[in-house]
Amino acid sequence: MENLMNLLKEQCGKDIALCSNEEVYRGLMAMVQREAVKRESNEGKKKIYYISAEFLIGKLLSNNLINLGWYDEVRDGLAEAGKSLGEVEEAETEPSLGNGGLGRLAACFLDSMASLGLNGAGIGLNYHLGLFKQEFADRLQKETPNPWIEEKSWLIPRDVSYSVQFGNMSVKSRLYDIAVTGYRNRTNWLHLFDIESVDEKILGEGISFDKEDIAKNLTLFLYPDDSDESGRKLRIYQQYFMVSNGAQLILDECVKRGCTLYDLPDYAVIQINDTHPSMVIPELIRLLVQRGIDFDEAVEIVRKTCAYTNHTILAEALEKWPIAYLKEVVPQLVPIIEILDDRVRRQFKKTEVAIIDHDDLVHMAHMDIHYGFSVNGVAYLHTEILKNTELADFYELYPEKFNNKTNGITFRRWLLHCNHPLADFITRKIGASYKTDADLLEKLGELTDENTLRELLEIKHQNKLALKRYLKETQDIDVDENSIFDIQIKRLHEYKRQQMNALYVIHKYLEIKRGKIPSTPITVIFGAKAAPAYKIAKDIIHLILCLEKLTYEDPEVSPYLKVVMVENYNVTKAEKLIPACDISQQISLASKEASGTGNMKFMLNGAVTLGTMDGANVEIAELVGADNIYIFGESSEKVIGHYAKGDYVAKDYYEKNEEIKEAVDFIIGEELMAIGHKDNLDRLYQELVGKDWFMTLLDYQSYAKAREQAYADYEDRIGWAKKMMVNISKAGFFSSDRTIREYNRDIWKLGD
Ligand SMILES: *Cc1c(COP(=O)(O)O)cnc(C)c1O
Repeated sequence: MENLMNLLKEQCGKDIALCSNEEVYRGLMAMVQREAVKRESNEGKKKIYYISAEFLIGKLLSNNLINLGWYDEVRDGLAEAGKSLGEVEEAETEPSLGNGGLGRLAACFLDSMASLGLNGAGIGLNYHLGLFKQEFADRLQKETPNPWIEEKSWLIPRDVSYSVQFGNMSVKSRLYDIAVTGYRNRTNWLHLFDIESVDEKILGEGISFDKEDIAKNLTLFLYPDDSDESGRKLRIYQQYFMVSNGAQLILDECVKRGCTLYDLPDYAVIQINDTHPSMVIPELIRLLVQRGIDFDEAVEIVRKTCAYTNHTILAEALEKWPIAYLKEVVPQLVPIIEILDDRVRRQFKKTEVAIIDHDDLVHMAHMDIHYGFSVNGVAYLHTEILKNTELADFYELYPEKFNNKTNGITFRRWLLHCNHPLADFITRKIGASYKTDADLLEKLGELTDENTLRELLEIKHQNKLALKRYLKETQDIDVDENSIFDIQIKRLHEYKRQQMNALYVIHKYLEIKRGKIPSTPITVIFGAKAAPAYKIAKDIIHLILCLEKLTYEDPEVSPYLKVVMVENYNVTKAEKLIPACDISQQISLASKEASGTGNMKFMLNGAVTLGTMDGANVEIAELVGADNIYIFGESSEKVIGHYAKGDYVAKDYYEKNEEIKEAVDFIIGEELMAIGHKDNLDRLYQELVGKDWFMTLLDYQSYAKAREQAYADYEDRIGWAKKMMVNISKAGFFSSDRTIREYNRDIWKLGD
């Protein structure tokens, strides 16, 4: 192999020691891009197009260095020149092209597709400002723009451009590509479409902007606020822009590979990631008809090409667009959607399975199910709930379409990159083959001698020290590395129940004030962004930030209990937090979290889960056994029963349980009122006592008990290390390589 340091020197035009971190970063980026192109090879007749409104890819430099096999040489070479790769990484901006789990999943899938050598590509949008950046001011979330595209970036402009017609105008697109290097394998591409006329000057205060000036705002932000009509319409503009470009690209590529369009399903399979890209179905039909194919035939071709992944059963997240909006934004699709709906209505009596309902809302998921060949859920429990409850009417019509694909995470990023000490430890103990065959982690299960377990504890301790330094540098927060790091990081949503975690913190605070001191101090770490228009979620952030101040500044409490809220939770922060975690909080209301992937990242990095029987927690529990996980709370069946009967009354739990009442009342007590805002705290209190739609109080008692048990068990360090080891050893199943192999085996069928 060529000497990478010499190449870098050439690239930068001077001695590495004389380069700034930015110069080194840009030099390495250019080298990676050149190498990625060299390794490009899109072979195979059939190709998988993973189309998604979100790709939460995170920073790209280190991950690419690892996948190219360059990491060690570059790190050591830089060190010799007095540079640190860690500091060079700081020069990279994080593209925030996703909200959370769904977008991160798409990114993990791209890594696995390339690493397994599958002929595939991602298709999405090039949002200039991505998701907002979160700042805290006055203990409230403030949203600011998050520009990530610099003069030299990972985006490679291409000479590919399509015209996309909307009701009132047409725009010309431009394609940008990001290389997805496979782990010691070939390169695939993430195709991101954009328009040249986007104009950041239309930004107002914070992240506000003129939502009606489509030519200037189309790819400005990821999912702008959709709490009003113009926001929702912009979302339709974005979705159609994505799928129309995607469909045109797919047809062009397939024709180039020899496709006649009649045999499209032999050349392409399109995975529709949640309902955001659903309009690809009518758009493809439209394009095929335009190219001379008979309508009925076009429908059948598209049906054999498209597959749909469902990510949620939360009603508000299953998209339903008013037909009037579609008539305005994408009039050319409306007659097609009407015919598709008409056929469904003729074939099936149940109006529940129609595409257009009696309120003239277009159910995007229904279109995907009728006119795609596969419907998959993202964890065992989730798929069962789809079949038996949420989509039962459809399961009855098409049992053969339904299948489960339990989510996974790429071990390249979530172990090799984010936790070098642990990855090296595993390599020393069982060899390096686990890096391509995650099931080999099972071998760690045999390592039960005390010395090895102490080594594992020492690695966790070092990672906690590293996080302590990071929190000090970035937020000027002091934490005790000898405390238990108890972490909940994920989007803020009531169903994820950060509020339940906060209630327990209040309880613990009060206990300490009364003189009951925990055996080991506890650091409770949160990280979460709330959707800008989601009031209660923002109130919960406010509560947490108030608790941060309360615990931090009380000298009677802070040695034993501290709350920390990490600002602007994103992939980069996740990579710092997860390796340092002792207890992983996965406490969603059973039946509500489709899968979760944070839970898998924590497990892989030796944290023990405290969770409900929800999403993939169910499969984690099955794999590690009851001794190595803390499970609490009502089952999904019971919860679904409560919703069906409408018999959950939060107030009953509040009134009957002294501990709950005390903690809930504390939200509007004088200590917090002195720190926080009355409006926010009052509203949150009312929500918890008067509604509590996600049944926090139902599970509180069992949660507190399980959490106490985890803290008690933590005292036996060797016993705890055994639990850590079991968790790591059983994490192999959650490699996204396994997930992608299953997609390919059951849905994509690309062959070798
Ligand atoms: C993994 C990940 C998520 C998903 O976390 P869940 O706990 O599964 O909701 C969200 N955001 C980021 C930045 C992630 O890395």
